[in-house]
Amino acid sequence: MSNGPYGQLACGCGAVTLLVCGAPLGHARDAEDEPVSLWPEEAIQLGQGADELAVVPDARCLAAWQCRRCGERLLYADDEAGVAVLADSAEEGDEAGLALTTSQQRWLAALGYRVDVGP
Ligand SMILES: [Zn+2]
Repeated sequence: MSNGPYGQLACGCGAVTLLVCGAPLGHARDAEDEPVSLWPEEAIQLGQGADELAVVPDARCLAAWQCRRCGERLLYADDEAGVAVLADSAEEGDEAGLALTTSQQRWLAALGYRVDVGP
């Protein structure tokens, strides 16, 4: 695994982009059974669109990073847990490793995420 940029995420209208570096902590499914990937907060950087980015509390008291133009939510984060939750881009998923701490896993479970612990 390289240390280079892992990928870039953009909202629906393209105004806000995020750069994601390194490797995910793990993968999970949300309450709607959609795949998500779990990242250390420091792995996420704002690429462009600082003026369009709004950080708003969601119903679960997470900080949602939302585009002011298209309303798309790019990630959910919690400072205390130090975890950012992103929609999973599907084609990855072969990195098995689960690097979440027990307290992070408990935090995710309390929010309704089901962590994939792999085979
Ligand atoms: Zn947008």
